[in-house]
Amino acid sequence: MADRIDRVMVITAHPDDSEFGAGGTVAKLVKEGREVGYCIVTNGNKGSSDRAMTPERLVTIRAEEQRNAARVLGVERVSFLGYPDGEVEDTRDLRRDVSREIRRFRPDLVICQNPNRTYNLGASHRDHRTVGGVVLDCVYPLARDHLAFPELLPDFEPHKVREVYVMQWNEPHVVNDISDVIDLKVKALACHASQFKDFAAVEARVRQRNKELGAARGYAYAETFDRIVIA
Ligand SMILES: [Zn+2]
Repeated sequence: MADRIDRVMVITAHPDDSEFGAGGTVAKLVKEGREVGYCIVTNGNKGSSDRAMTPERLVTIRAEEQRNAARVLGVERVSFLGYPDGEVEDTRDLRRDVSREIRRFRPDLVICQNPNRTYNLGASHRDHRTVGGVVLDCVYPLARDHLAFPELLPDFEPHKVREVYVMQWNEPHVVNDISDVIDLKVKALACHASQFKDFAAVEARVRQRNKELGAARGYAYAETFDRIVIA
């Protein structure tokens, strides 16, 4: 990663995605003095197997859990776009909203989800793929070009992102050593209590996965990404 990276924005589909995919990396970036902000596209209102839970109550709970998790990692700014969970489509509205958030926060580095279907976690979640693709389209060219979404001017001036990290486990470009912050990542994940019946099992899976991702480099734990440098 270039030294000129001062501001980092993590844009994901659901509350908890940032912690699962990049919690250790976020903790490290904050420790290095970089300012990190989150943008969460959906409100997570389908993420419950509790038949007594209402979607409305779940939205409130998951927003609070996400703010707490962010705080554990040192992320102060969390914005929620409030799209319905499981129903994200690649629409002009979503592209405008994500472009607006990029123009507002003005990150040098954006971290996002994989736009491609993989079989690493089941068959991958459609919201993850859709949001990953939309974020890449907003980084280039929509947030950068003043003629895209003229209604965002003059409040949200165009912004050029320098780099993107795409969450990616298969032959990744970047293997980020998170050994010294794995406990913080687990602590942040635990904030999403509504999502876990058995957190010990989740923690074991996450540690195992991050261990496997670091093994080839001799790291105890790692998170991995593809890296795009925007010319
Ligand atoms: Zn998710």
